[in-house]
Amino acid sequence: MALHIENEANRCLNCKHPLCQEGCPVHTPIPQIIQLFKEHKLMEAGEILFKNNPLSAICSEVCDHAQQCAGHCIRGRKDSPVHFSSIENYISEMYLERMPKLVPDQKINEKVAVIGSGPAGITVAVIMAMHGYHVTIFEWKSKIGGVMQYGIPEFRLPKTILDTYEKRLEEMGIQIRLNATIGSVLMIDDLFRDGYKTIFVGTGAERPRTLGIKGESFGNVHFAMNYLANPKAHHLGNKVAVIGVGNAAMDVARTALRNGSKQVTLYAMGKEIAASSHEVAYAELDGAEIETGMQIQEITETGPVFKRTIYGEHDEIIGAEDELIQVEADSTIISISQVPRGKLVRTTSGLTAAENGLLIVDENYMTTKPGVFAAGDVVTGAKTVVHAVEGAKKAAEAMIKYMDEQK
Ligand SMILES: Cc1cc2nc3c(=O)[nH]c(=O)nc-3n(C[C@H](O)[C@H](O)[C@H](O)COP(=O)(O)OP(=O)(O)OC[C@H]3O[C@@H](n4cnc5c(N)ncnc54)[C@H](O)[C@@H]3O)c2cc1C
Ligand code: SF4
Repeated sequence: MALHIENEANRCLNCKHPLCQEGCPVHTPIPQIIQLFKEHKLMEAGEILFKNNPLSAICSEVCDHAQQCAGHCIRGRKDSPVHFSSIENYISEMYLERMPKLVPDQKINEKVAVIGSGPAGITVAVIMAMHGYHVTIFEWKSKIGGVMQYGIPEFRLPKTILDTYEKRLEEMGIQIRLNATIGSVLMIDDLFRDGYKTIFVGTGAERPRTLGIKGESFGNVHFAMNYLANPKAHHLGNKVAVIGVGNAAMDVARTALRNGSKQVTLYAMGKEIAASSHEVAYAELDGAEIETGMQIQEITETGPVFKRTIYGEHDEIIGAEDELIQVEADSTIISISQVPRGKLVRTTSGLTAAENGLLIVDENYMTTKPGVFAAGDVVTGAKTVVHAVEGAKKAAEAMIKYMDEQK
């Protein structure tokens, strides 16, 4: 490991205009970090990484590096790119373990509420605490992390890292209220009543999209998010059909195979596979099969029923054949993306969502309710950890500016 990452660091050209950095949504200062790593200044590098992206230790594991840092590295044009993520992971995991208590320069006697403890919520909480605000996170579930805790499987992201995050957040003075849903017993207006100056909504998009077809309520049919939240509680049987071919669907397939299912097939409507090539390769390596050109019609007690897709000249979908194809499966899992839950919007006067359920925000990430800001999947729709961090950083900046202007 050490040899591998040292070799990777030595391959870096320390470019004046680092394309790797441009390719990273949070513009991680990659050449600077590599230099510090080479000088063995790991804690210094770790602090820079954490302050730029509190989720660095997780992004280094779960980002689509081929599309971001590595995909943009100049060395990748003729050779293989520098695999910065391995270096970042080494530094950031170590830093998170040994991290000293970060003390803000000043204490500000104002309270900020953060709803949701996914990557967006954690990012805002850390930035606010580092600026000296009193921060309380309200989290609906019994553990922090959002999709990182209840979606991304253990074999891709060991959950112990989220326990370490929880400890670090508490050491920073951030209060965490678990099993606390805002919009149920406590409302957003209660938080304003209790003196919170700004409220950040990072509630994600975890409500499964349905197909709206017959059979979705059968006992052997599940939605991806429900399955992934607790795979061991499900007994899928040997043969599993997965409707959808995005990254979450690949996680479902790999999890099912690791939990004893023998044959897992993912079905795509067209020829396009939404998941990253990296995730597809791993799913296939684990034994999953992908069948394209299959349009789901209904789900029966014995499995899904499809029609074959008819393609046009440019492989676009132009229709479906008449013949129905019954696929035998012990369980069917629907994985066709997620949308935000409507609870907060329904219970908060002045908070507005678009027709697709996504919260409406202005260019400063403020929602239609003054003092309430939002970022992450609840604004963008299902995206990625680093994009949630990117939006949350901008929202935090805007929240600080807003509170300064209110003084
Ligand atoms: C199966 C799966 C695999 C994925 N794999 C990857 C990957 O490998 N790499 C990657 O970058 N991205 C991946 N993603 C996407 C990524 O996890 C999300 O884009 C990211 O977690 C969004 O962050 P968020 O903070 O906006 O929301 P979330 O992570 O969804 O967190 C929202 C939090 O808010 C809480 N909450 C909701 N409503 C309330 C309420 N009313 N009151 C209190 N709390 C509330 C929820 O319980 C949750 O903890 C994956 C997604 C899925 C579904
Ligand atoms: S583009 Fe590649 S070689 Fe250049 S600084 Fe970034 S990692 Fe190093």
